Amino acid sequence: MTATATRVLVLNSGSSSVKYQLLDMNPDSAGGPAAGTRLAVGLVERIGEDTSRLAHTPLATGGDKRETEGPIADHEAALKAVAAELSADGLGLDSPQLAAIGHRVVHGGLKFTAPTVIDDAVLAEIERLVPVAPLHNPANITGIRTARALRPDLPQVAVFDTAFHTTMPEYAARYAIDVATADAHRIRRYGFHGTSHAYVSRKTAELLGKDPSEVNVIVLHLGNGASASAVAGGRCVDTSMGLTPLEGLVMGTRSGDIDPAVTFHLKRVAGMSEDDVDVLLNKKSGLVGLCGDNDMREIRRRIDEGDERAELAFDIYIHRLKKYIGAYTAVLGRVDAVAFTAGVGENAAPVRAAALAGLEEMGLAVDADLNAVRSGEPRLISPEYARVAAAVVPTDEELEIAQQTYALVSA
Ligand code: AMP
Repeated sequence: MTATATRVLVLNSGSSSVKYQLLDMNPDSAGGPAAGTRLAVGLVERIGEDTSRLAHTPLATGGDKRETEGPIADHEAALKAVAAELSADGLGLDSPQLAAIGHRVVHGGLKFTAPTVIDDAVLAEIERLVPVAPLHNPANITGIRTARALRPDLPQVAVFDTAFHTTMPEYAARYAIDVATADAHRIRRYGFHGTSHAYVSRKTAELLGKDPSEVNVIVLHLGNGASASAVAGGRCVDTSMGLTPLEGLVMGTRSGDIDPAVTFHLKRVAGMSEDDVDVLLNKKSGLVGLCGDNDMREIRRRIDEGDERAELAFDIYIHRLKKYIGAYTAVLGRVDAVAFTAGVGENAAPVRAAALAGLEEMGLAVDADLNAVRSGEPRLISPEYARVAAAVVPTDEELEIAQQTYALVSA
């Protein structure tokens, strides 16, 4: 890495999409971009279809968003198209200013507890984890391979969604099943969204004017996928997702917690296959299964029109959320803040109000005016008298990945 190399390209490769951001991580004394300045952001969607779409916004040049549609056959073609877009703005992957590429990797198992520079052995280990993350790790691996082929000389760093949760004590991470079976198949609670939980818990401490080591925070990451975590003094002690991102809260399309006997029942009585049940619980459950919509805006609109199915779906969603707030209050013993983040958590004031309603005995309260404020900044929504702060803290997984990547390669 050269002294001037301060840029990090963050890649989040999904099965048919690639999200990317190019960030500059170092301010220069001549008034250049501050740490974490976004130079370009974009998204390639529907990879492998005829109607692939690339949307690229060159923030560095102040240029308009550019959108192109047309077939992009695979991840290699997608990354080449991204590289061409970046080059057109003078931000190409061949730039000496590029310090590293940071990859979001969903599953790091027990082995990866921190961001890791990728070599062949690391890549092989990420591949070994495919059986526990069949939906996510293969796409991440494809992204890594493609990026390495394009810039073999450049450090590539894996930042794992599971890493923040590896501090969970054994009694929180283990399922109460036969130990030999669990160990043989690496069955345990890994947790996900760790990059977000890490970032938001730290930012919440900042909002309270304290060091992360001094505060206990319940983070509620409520997006289309949703998870809660209990963070004590900056370390995760419990989280709601488990072996896979299916466990825990009610989500956009996933059931969250469910009696596992439901799956035997569906197979024995309803004649469903393993794959049918997998699709049912991951894609046709949660809010969409309950009321047909997974967008909280649409659900709120329907409730306002008196739609009872939408109202019941909302109530089930909130009930589960409350149970986790209660459980994690007990786990932490003392809670300093409850932080809402991600698409629903940051934008849906009625969800925040309903989730904390009636929890005054636990020191929680919501100020209606503060809760109604719309802003991209971290902010308190609790009244001054509340013993436990309630906050909205916008997440920024890309910035966290870029910061972790840059810290590793510039050390
Ligand atoms: P994420 O996965 O974090 O991108 O969150 C996506 C979800 O956020 C969507 O499915 C919506 O349910 C929710 N969302 C986004 N914007 C709003 C909004 N203004 N009000 C309520 N919910 C929203």
